[in-house]
Amino acid sequence: MDAKIVVLAGDGIGPEVTSEARKVLEALGKRFSHSFNFDEQLMGGIAIDTVGNSLPDATVEACRSADAILLGAVGGPKWDNPNAKDRPERGLLGIRKALNLFANVRPVKIHPQLVSASTLKEEVLQGVDMIVIRELTGGAYFGPRQEAGDAAFEAYDTMLYTRPEIERVLRTAAEMALARSKKLTSVDKANVLASSRLWRRVATQVLAEYPDLQVEHVLVDAMAMHLIRHPASYDVIVTENLFGDILTDEASMLAGSMGMLPSASLGDIMNSRQLPLGLYEPIHGSAPDIAGQGISNPLATILSAAMLLRHSLGLEAEAAAIEQAVDAVLNEGVRTPDVAHTGSEVVGTPVMGDLVVQKLLQQ
Ligand code: NAD
Repeated sequence: MDAKIVVLAGDGIGPEVTSEARKVLEALGKRFSHSFNFDEQLMGGIAIDTVGNSLPDATVEACRSADAILLGAVGGPKWDNPNAKDRPERGLLGIRKALNLFANVRPVKIHPQLVSASTLKEEVLQGVDMIVIRELTGGAYFGPRQEAGDAAFEAYDTMLYTRPEIERVLRTAAEMALARSKKLTSVDKANVLASSRLWRRVATQVLAEYPDLQVEHVLVDAMAMHLIRHPASYDVIVTENLFGDILTDEASMLAGSMGMLPSASLGDIMNSRQLPLGLYEPIHGSAPDIAGQGISNPLATILSAAMLLRHSLGLEAEAAAIEQAVDAVLNEGVRTPDVAHTGSEVVGTPVMGDLVVQKLLQQ
C-alpha cells in the first residue's frame, strides 16, 4: 500500500518522539511491503518562529490531501505571552476545526508491568481497559466568548452545542462500544447545565437506535470519582469537550505516565482509502522541562502510529504488530525514566525506538 502521512513534529519533545514513531513506521513498511510517504509540515511555536503563523495554509492543504496525520506536541514557555496575537495552541485548535475532527479517542489500557507506575493501588487498576471519547470541536472552547483585556470586570465563555454535533460523536462512540463489550457511558451535567440537558435528550434518543448497547448516563462530578474508585467497571465513555479534557487527563493517570498513552482525533472527512482522515498524537504536551535531553518516552507516539494504521489505513495486523512489539520491550523491563522503577533497565528516547523496531522485526 502507498499512503501519505503528514508529520507535524511541533515543539519541545515533539520532534524527538515523532522521529521514533516514524522510525517504527518505516521498519513496519519494509516488513509488510507498504510505502509510507512522510511529509513534514510546520505547526505550533516552530511555525510562528519560521513563517509567523501557528497554522500556515500550506500545512492545512497538506493535511487535507493526506491519508493521516501524526502530531508530536505544540507549545512551550517561549510562546506563553497571553497577549501575543498568535499562539501554538491556535494551530492545534485550528487544524482540528479545519479537518472537522470532532471525536477524540483515547484508549486507556494498563500494561501489567506498569501497574507500579500509577499512584493508585494495584487492586483498583486490575482489568482497566477503556476508551474515552471526547467531543472536540464544540462546547466552551469554541462558543461565543468575551475577554475585554486586563482591566475587564467580567468575561465569559459559552458552552454551546447543537443536536448534530452531539449526535455524530455519540454515534462514533456507539459504534466503538458495539465492537467492544457493548457498554457505553455518556457523561454530562444535566442536573445543572442546559447544554447538558440537550446532550442527555439527544443521547437518549440516538442510543435507543442501538438496542444491543447497555447505556448508562453519569454526571461528570460523579464520573470524576468513579474513575479513580472503580475504573475497571467502564468500557467506552463519551462526553463533551471541556468535561472530556479533564476526565481524559484523570484517566491517563491510571496508567502512571502521560508518556504511555496514544490518541486519535477522527472526523467525517474520508481519505483516499475511504477511511477517516485522522490526526494521531500522544496525549502529553511538549514537556519543555525535559526537551532536548533525549529522555522523553516515545511509546505514546509509537502507539499513536499504531492507531493511525488501524483507523486511517485499515491495517489491523500491522497496528497489532506495533502494540505487541511495545509490550515485548516492556516485558523485558526496559523503561524510559518517566516509568522506571527499581530493577528496570533505563534507556533514552532513541534506544527505546530502536528496541521497538528490533522486536517488530523479530516477530
Ligand atoms: P506536558 O504533558 O508537556 O508535561 C507534563 C509532565 O509530564 C512534565 O513533567 C513532562 O516532563 C512529563 N511528560 C510529558 N510527556 C512525557 C513523555 N513523553 N516522556 C516523559 N515525560 C513526559 O504538560 P505541560 O507541562 O502542562 O505543558 C507543556 C506545554 O505543552 C505547554 O505549552 C502546553 O500548552 C503544551 N501542551 C500541548 C499539548 C498538545 O500539543 N496536544 C497538550 C498538552 C499541553
